[in-house]
Amino acid sequence: MTPAVELRDVSVHFGRTVALEGLGLSVAAGETLALLGPSGSGKSTALKAIAGFLRPTSGRVLLGGRDVTDLPPNRRGLGVVVQSYALFPHMKVFDNVAFGLHARRMPRREVAARVAEVLDLVGMGSFGGRYPRQLSGGQQQRVAIARALAIRPPVLLLDEPLSALDAALREEMVAELLRLRAELPGTAVVYVTHDQGEALALADRIAVMRDARLVEVGATEALYHRPAESFTASFLGASNLIPVEVVDAETVRVGGVSVKASASGVEGPVVLGVRPHRVGVREYRGSGLAARLVAVQWRGTGFRLELELEPGLESGVGPVLGVGRRVRADVVDVGGLAVGALVEVSIPDGCPLVRVA
Ligand code: ADP
Repeated sequence: MTPAVELRDVSVHFGRTVALEGLGLSVAAGETLALLGPSGSGKSTALKAIAGFLRPTSGRVLLGGRDVTDLPPNRRGLGVVVQSYALFPHMKVFDNVAFGLHARRMPRREVAARVAEVLDLVGMGSFGGRYPRQLSGGQQQRVAIARALAIRPPVLLLDEPLSALDAALREEMVAELLRLRAELPGTAVVYVTHDQGEALALADRIAVMRDARLVEVGATEALYHRPAESFTASFLGASNLIPVEVVDAETVRVGGVSVKASASGVEGPVVLGVRPHRVGVREYRGSGLAARLVAVQWRGTGFRLELELEPGLESGVGPVLGVGRRVRADVVDVGGLAVGALVEVSIPDGCPLVRVA
């Protein structure tokens, strides 16, 4: 099927600043793709290239198979929502939402029906007569989304739509966006965020960005559980990256202990990516992977332990590649362990081997 959005080898340079380099991506109809990465990694630039707010230095942008690289934004027929709502302050909610429809010369009666429909869709049906200043931040953002949806765009572009909201409201809006997503089964959504939680909750696929480049793209769950790149592993869930000795395709050794890794087929230097909540910790009993407990942090739902791997105390231990390396463990209970204690760390089978950037 023809992708709803396709970027072909898109680069954007501002003078000597490289904002985006050789980005290739496609988004299917009905799919949500998150562009995830730290600030300055090129996410907004990619979105602006799709929207037509900037012209790529090189490469092509296609919408529904049509090359739109040379078309201005208003001829691309997309819905765009940015961080700062950008509602017209002197217009009531109704007129804000109707704006794009009037611009398309839709008959008044149809405009009224369409505005009512999209305001209902975002749960703002009774707010048409208010001014933006009479709404909360979350409500304004809902109106901005309704405005973007009014023209029934095949593609909805969202650029950090929740970042101006406080934490509680952000969570509520994630649930709201999921509900909305289900109401728009044919719409392709591109969602720019630096927040891994939002990306995990909302996206079918995630494209991880770093320094103007695509690091990796994949189905959300697969990328979370089996990232190929260490950058993805740490950005998407703060993995421990533990140096290991690779024995064969599935076996690695760390501090003299063998662990089964999930074979990713990744070439070159690798580390083992282990989520803090998967690291087991108990009192040291003379064997296994030894570590020193260097800090304990209470986090309400449990404890975060900082551990420093130690050479195996048993004899005959081979190369100890992980030694001196810090490992974080998230546990429910510290079980009487105190800072300074020698502990045994267990790493479960099945953690991914990831490429070191
Ligand atoms: P992100 O959305 O991931 O935070 P951006 O796409 O906004 O990142 O920016 C990527 C890089 O391009 C940054 O280094 C940024 O400073 C630079 N950049 C973005 N827009 C412009 C511009 N109009 N002029 C010059 N540099 C820009």
